[in-house]
Order: sequence, then structure tokens, then C-alpha cells
Amino acid sequence: SVRLRFAPSPTGYVHIGGLRTALYNYLYAKKEKGQYILRVEDTDQTRLVEGAVEGMIKAMSWAGVMHEEGPMLEDDKIVEIGEYGPYVQSDRLEIYKKHSEELIEKGHAYYCFCSKERMENVREAQKAEGKTAKYDGHCRHLSKEEVEAKLAAGESHVVRLKLPENRVIEFDDLIKGHIAVNTNDMDDQVLMKADGFPTYHLAVVVDDHYMKISHVVRGDEWLISTPKHIYTYEAFGWEVPQFVHLPVILSQSKKKLSKREGDVSVEDFRKKGYLPEALINFIALVGWSPEDGEEIMSIDELIEKFSFDRVSKSSGVFDVDKLNWMNNHYIKQYDLAQLTELCKPYFVTSGFTTEANFEANKPWFEKIVECLRERLNKLDEIESYFGLLNNNHFELEDQEAEEMISMAHVSALLEALKLKFSEIEVLEVANVKATFKALQKELGVKGKNLFMPIRVAMTGQVHGPDIALLIEIIGKDNAVERIEHSLK
Ligand code: GLU
Repeated sequence: SVRLRFAPSPTGYVHIGGLRTALYNYLYAKKEKGQYILRVEDTDQTRLVEGAVEGMIKAMSWAGVMHEEGPMLEDDKIVEIGEYGPYVQSDRLEIYKKHSEELIEKGHAYYCFCSKERMENVREAQKAEGKTAKYDGHCRHLSKEEVEAKLAAGESHVVRLKLPENRVIEFDDLIKGHIAVNTNDMDDQVLMKADGFPTYHLAVVVDDHYMKISHVVRGDEWLISTPKHIYTYEAFGWEVPQFVHLPVILSQSKKKLSKREGDVSVEDFRKKGYLPEALINFIALVGWSPEDGEEIMSIDELIEKFSFDRVSKSSGVFDVDKLNWMNNHYIKQYDLAQLTELCKPYFVTSGFTTEANFEANKPWFEKIVECLRERLNKLDEIESYFGLLNNNHFELEDQEAEEMISMAHVSALLEALKLKFSEIEVLEVANVKATFKALQKELGVKGKNLFMPIRVAMTGQVHGPDIALLIEIIGKDNAVERIEHSLK
């Protein structure tokens, strides 16, 4: 059966593009009833970030793209599940060392003792001649004795892949099609660094082989490295997996999605109050679409409909408006109690209420969420309504609100409303609506002429949430105070 992996470097956050890569791996693995694995690629010791692996696992599990093999969190500690571990590359250094030695013995790799300065000079000279920089093969032909003497003397060294001359390396990528590259246009890739760590290029091949990965699905920035990987598989005598290189995701201004252009990490989106269902549904569609053209899909539907042959060859655009639309769709559909729970941080951390008050008055907070959710693109927007809920003495928002409240019949209307409200003990949607009806009959005003002045009196705005529910939420005293304030 198929085995796919997501292999991020623990740089401190999961990039939204990485989430899509992970998702496509996950969807295909699930569709084919195979396995989906997480592997941590931390061989670049200069880029390590404390707590990054934990953060990554949390982000992926929040998004609902959870692996069944690899490092997992149990009571906030990392444990490994699966029989092909370790799944963290820095725990596999012995394996890489052994395999680099195997390649050297077979004549497919060699020690390179070239100093940084020498490499600089070679590069400078090549540049001056207008050639692309490439290792000049200086150490390819050192004799066994020379190598041993240098090793014995403790000379700093790397290990390089020994590419054959003038050979065409070919493969078929499921998205990019047939790729063929001549080894003369390739570099003798460093496989082991001077610090004893493997490069990504050795580690990825060794791990994908031993973890029995059937499909390597990753961003297309790795496409140019793939011929080197293919040659490495061959040098070991291993079967080559199927490669699938995904086009990049661009921002709306058609640039690479980067921190500078706004939110890029899964955590950023979570904090703003995007629902995982919406983020997953949205990101699945950046560069892929199902045959039936459906837009709103649950994870199970995505699994059922996913295929690589419908991933577009060109880069997908990250359309925030579409994400917002989709998130609003999910917010409107969500179970109210659950949604209110998800809104809790916005109520509490923004100072609108305390944790204890929130817990003690859940039904009231549910009403607020019910009242506002139609209008929310993301949950953090709920904070922008706190003023509306708290403040009885607001300014009118605009000219239109001004006009609505200064129509000739409005004073009489609001006086009558105030009187009716004061006769009711507790205002609730039903009796508020009944009051509106009674006013309509008694005063002969209806539609816009009835509702707009009331809305403006309650909110200062001509647009906004359901007014009867809002009145129930703020309660009788506040409602009456707002009417009085408008009558002044
Ligand atoms: N560690 C690589 C990255 O973060 C993974 C590339 C691959 O999937 O082979 O992009």
C-alpha cells in the first residue's frame, strides 16, 4: 500500500504552503488506504528553534491533518510511534554516516578536503568566465593513500556524490511530467557536511527508502534537486519512489507568500479565528479542484475526490477574500455551543469579560455569538462588536443613520417603544418582535420606517446584526437607556 510523508524542517512554524503539501500527502494516503507519516528534517543545525517540533505537531493536529507514524505529543512530551523510526533526522546520524561510507566504498561518493578559500577562488574564476558555479572535481581523483593520510591528519572534509560524466538522469513527475537532466549540468552534491551531519540530499533519500515511502510529494523548489536524489537511489541500488512536485502558492500580488506580505503560518490563521475546517477546505483548493467543481467539502469529501492529476501545473493564488467567505460559511454552520467555546479567547483576552464570568453566563455568550456570527469572517472580528454591546451613549455612525433617526415620526415611535418595553419584565426575541408588530399596527408605520429608527437608536448604525436578538442580549435597562439617549 502507499506510504506518504510530510517532512518539514522545524523552523518554528508551519507555513501555510507546508500545510497544503501536508494535506495533499494526507489526502492521497487516506484515499489509497495507506499511511501518512511525519518526519522531522533537522539536519541544518544552524536553523534549529526551541520547541519547534511540538509547535508543528500541535498546528497539524489543530488543522486535522494528523499523521499516524512519527513523533507525537503525549502529555506535552514527544514520543515516536511507528516501526520505521527514529523519525527525527538528528537521531539518525549513525545511519547516514554508514550510508555515506557505503557510497564511498562503492565508488559513488568521495571525500572532499577543499577549503572554503579554495572553493571561493574556484567560484570566482568560474564566474569571471561566465560559467555557472560548480565544484571542479579537485578531490575526485585523490588516491586511497592520500585520502587516508588526510583523514589521519584530521583534515576537515565533506563527502560528495560522484556523478558519472555525461549521463542523462530521467524521471516522470506526476505533475511536472518527464524530466531529463545531463549529469554534466549537475554538481557533485555534498552528502555529508564537515560537522558530521548529512545534508538534506543524503538524508531524504536514505529516509524515504527505509521508511518505505512510495510517493514523494513536496514543493517544486525541490524539483531541481530530484535528479541528484534519483542518482543516489541508483547508487545504492534502491527502487526510486514516485515524485510529485507541487506548484508554489502565490500571494494576491503574485509574489511568493512570505511573512512580509501578511500571515503565513498556520498559527497566525488559528489566532485570527479561522476554523480548521475552513482553512483546510480553502487550502485544498489552492491549486487543485475536484472534477465536479464543488467548493465546500469536508475532509472526508476531500479524501474521496482528491487526485494528483487534477493539481494544476501553474501556481495557485492565495485569495484571502475567498478564505474569509469560506470561513464565514463554516462559522454560520457550526454548532453554536462549540462555536461559543471557540470564541471564548476573544471575549476573555480582550478584556470584554473574565473567564469566570464567561463560564457562569454561557447562555448569554451563546446569544451574542448567535447574534453576530452571520457577520463574522473570522472569530477575532467579534471584538469589534464589544463597543456595540457595552456602550449606550454612542455617536451615530454616518449621515444615513442621522437621517433615519430624524424622520418626523421617530420621536413618537421611540416614545411608544420605550413605554411598551417598560411594561415587559424581561425582553426576549419573541416579545420584542411582538412589540414591533403592535407598534406597526398602532402607529401605522412599517418596514424601513419602523425598523431603521429602532436599529439606529439601538446601535447608531443602519447596518448590523439581528435587532431583536441584540435587544434581548443588552437587556431592558440598556435598551431603554439607548432609546432615551436617542430622544435627547
Ligand atoms: N525538509 C524539506 C522542506 O522543509 C522537505 C522536502 C521534502 O519533502 O523532500 O522543505
